[in-house]
Amino acid sequence: LTQPEEVTSFQDEVSLTQMDVESLWHPMVQHKKYERTPPKRMDKANGCYVTDSEGKEYLDGVSGLWCVNVGYGRTELADAAREQLVELSYFPLVMSHSPAIKLAAKLLELLQFEGKVHFSNSGSEANETAFKMARQYHAQTEGSRRYKIISRYRAYHGNTMGALSATAQAERRAKYEPLVPGFLHVHPPYCYRCPFGKTYGSCNIECASSIENTVIHEGAETVAAIIVEPVISGGGVIVPPDEYLPMLREICDRYGILLIFDEVVSGFGRLGKMFGHQVWGVKPDMITLAKGITSGYLPLSATVTQQHIFEAFLDESDPTSHFRHINTYGGNPASTALSLKNIEIIETEQLPEQAAKMGAYLRAELATLEDHPYVGDIRSKGMLLGIELVADKETKEPLPGNKVGAIVSYCLEQGVIIGRNGSTVPGLSNVLIIAPPLILTKADADLIVAKLKEALNSQI
Ligand code: PMP
Repeated sequence: LTQPEEVTSFQDEVSLTQMDVESLWHPMVQHKKYERTPPKRMDKANGCYVTDSEGKEYLDGVSGLWCVNVGYGRTELADAAREQLVELSYFPLVMSHSPAIKLAAKLLELLQFEGKVHFSNSGSEANETAFKMARQYHAQTEGSRRYKIISRYRAYHGNTMGALSATAQAERRAKYEPLVPGFLHVHPPYCYRCPFGKTYGSCNIECASSIENTVIHEGAETVAAIIVEPVISGGGVIVPPDEYLPMLREICDRYGILLIFDEVVSGFGRLGKMFGHQVWGVKPDMITLAKGITSGYLPLSATVTQQHIFEAFLDESDPTSHFRHINTYGGNPASTALSLKNIEIIETEQLPEQAAKMGAYLRAELATLEDHPYVGDIRSKGMLLGIELVADKETKEPLPGNKVGAIVSYCLEQGVIIGRNGSTVPGLSNVLIIAPPLILTKADADLIVAKLKEALNSQI
């Protein structure tokens, strides 16, 4: 007996949902909730849109995890990976292979860096690699005790123990502490809620100058590096004032500290230039890249250093002077071949310029929400936008998490995926995040703004 096709697919659907609940441990969610309402399962995607198992389409306003910069369904990326897998599926980079060589050279050309590229698989690993390089660099140059890494509150640098130590969001660290020693945190350039109680214009950029005090009080000779995202992303889209990053560069130069830019989100066009540091014209000593490097199609990340750092690892008379650090998959042939094709698309379609243009359009359209009683602050750079929601514009009391959740859910039900900063702590999860693929059209941008408007109004 043969079953009608719908019955079979209905059974497949039920059993997949059942298997999901029984087998898969999802990140960042309370599974009790998923036992009651299983998560949406996405089956297909194209351009800026994803389609779930029931055939419903969603405009992905956060590019997956702000990584699908070129949009979904680019068959030329699949072809590049497939061709490479057939040619040479794997070989470790203790020796070499051509896609990794070509990608390293391409990244240096784009970054206008004289230096070297080290590959790994995720943003967290790229940052771990940067921390180890920074400590070893100092140990081999000054023979110093420089081991401390400074990062900012609200920053996100990853989930592994070192990267989490730099991640300064209490809610993500709770229950995993104690973390790695030697990580210090300073206040972020958060003008809307200035940690120093100042107002931009008369603040002397205390968020930057106070870092110098931290360095002095810690003992500059103990500080190895400062790591910053050009724009704090997951911590609530915190855009620094224009003076801030140049001031950090000066402080680092004054005290011999390495400046690391975590460009895991800001790299590959997101902020309206190919790389985030180019927006402010500040050159860091190291850059970490992931996400947009493959537009999320395959895992890959990179830690890029200036040449003077690399040169500290070349003392042949010291058997421990090379970088004694390896990972199995970093820079694998398929990921690097795919990344080259991804970068070709970003360049030929001028996606950084597109992000600048469409980001400015989105920002202008969002201005129509500024009078809404819940909209406290709108922040943006390129195609990375955040809307901080408050219950009271005067006191800036954050909008309660359940209301923010209801706004995000409303948009989802209406076919638009909006992000929010990932805190479960009351009062720290009140920023909506919009970071669509860089190919977003005006019609898509209008849809995001229209649905957001409805969602905000639905909660009054
Ligand atoms: N740095 C930043 C700025 C990030 O946003 C993320 C991930 N959201 C990471 C590092 C860690 O990347 P991964 O999840 O690939 O480890």
